Amino acid sequence: MTIEKPIYLQKIKQDNMSVILQQIWEHEGISRVELVTLTKLTSGTVTNLTQELIQLGLIREFATSSSAIGRKRVKLKYNTDQFMIIGIDISRTSYELILTDLAGQVINSVEGNTIGIHQPEKILDLIAPLIQNMITYASSKGMPVIGLGVSIPGPIDRKSGQLLTPPNFPGWENFPITSTLEKRFGLRVFIEDDARASALAERWYGLGRNVQNSLFITMGMGIGGGVISRGELVEGANGLYGQVGHITLIPNGLLCACGNRGCWETVGSIPGILRRWSVGDSIDDFFHAVHQEDPHAVQCLKDTLSDLESALTTLFNTYDPEIIVLGGRLYPYLAMYMDDIRSHVKDRIYSFVRDRLRIENATFGSSQNAKGAVALVFERLLTAPLQMLTTDNAKEK
Ligand SMILES: [Zn+2]
Repeated sequence: MTIEKPIYLQKIKQDNMSVILQQIWEHEGISRVELVTLTKLTSGTVTNLTQELIQLGLIREFATSSSAIGRKRVKLKYNTDQFMIIGIDISRTSYELILTDLAGQVINSVEGNTIGIHQPEKILDLIAPLIQNMITYASSKGMPVIGLGVSIPGPIDRKSGQLLTPPNFPGWENFPITSTLEKRFGLRVFIEDDARASALAERWYGLGRNVQNSLFITMGMGIGGGVISRGELVEGANGLYGQVGHITLIPNGLLCACGNRGCWETVGSIPGILRRWSVGDSIDDFFHAVHQEDPHAVQCLKDTLSDLESALTTLFNTYDPEIIVLGGRLYPYLAMYMDDIRSHVKDRIYSFVRDRLRIENATFGSSQNAKGAVALVFERLLTAPLQMLTTDNAKEK
């Protein structure tokens, strides 16, 4: 009991800090009085915890003048230039690394391809010096890197920090990426599958910043998703919540890597569209044929868009989000059809929500995954600031 009590109190303290940090992030500048009202914490607790957060370097005071009487008011906001975060996106054929401040502003970035490299160790050997350069640069600016976020094709095991059996990603099965990077750099490492990382990018830095319920869908070589409910990315019993690519669209259709038949991914992903077209193996060529008004390509596109509308309608009815965000490598090709897609989906949902639902495109383009990797670390900082800033050992997270 004498041991448990301080740990318990420490947890309450950290949870209260987290509530305060989330409010400061949402409001981009807030007074202590407003914090007391919004968090329902006592003014003494808000005073003490904000003071400690200032000492940790995470937030700072700034003065605003109240318009009517010109009186100065003290507000709190993030010290975004005190720490840095590195976001690492490893895809099946490329990588992207970004060094950002706490607000996700990119300070440095580097990308390259990994075509033909199938051993994880070789890919990490390739990017390790680049990561080290970023860590050294951040130190030279007096803004230490507080963690590495990794976006990678799933499924992954978050507890053990390793990949499970990602399809079309040979050599990565059961690879312990988290511990490998932790050992190499002595920093905390967090991994998330690319679709869910992309959802976090929107949650913290993009369209979902002030939205409690959102659905992110990424369309590319596969179709993935991430569901944010009450501000949190939902995991589900097996970390498979929001695997939107595996809803059945074609009864008794093609066998999918997940074991089901006729998943949306089998017809709506880039390989799915090319299989349906069955004329070439390049998505650029497919859309070129569409723009040349080749009747077969046009019909394939119509079927693809119809599937997308059916999927969006089903997913809206399943998750009831305020906003659906679409991204991924395929999205730029579909962007020009979005007005029609929006209107068709809205025709198929309850009339009283038609004007409320927003269907938007992802904020960060081809850097969505890397930004999501950064958001993963930022979210951890908001959830567990004491652990992130006051303990050195990466294993203690
Ligand atoms: Zn499937």
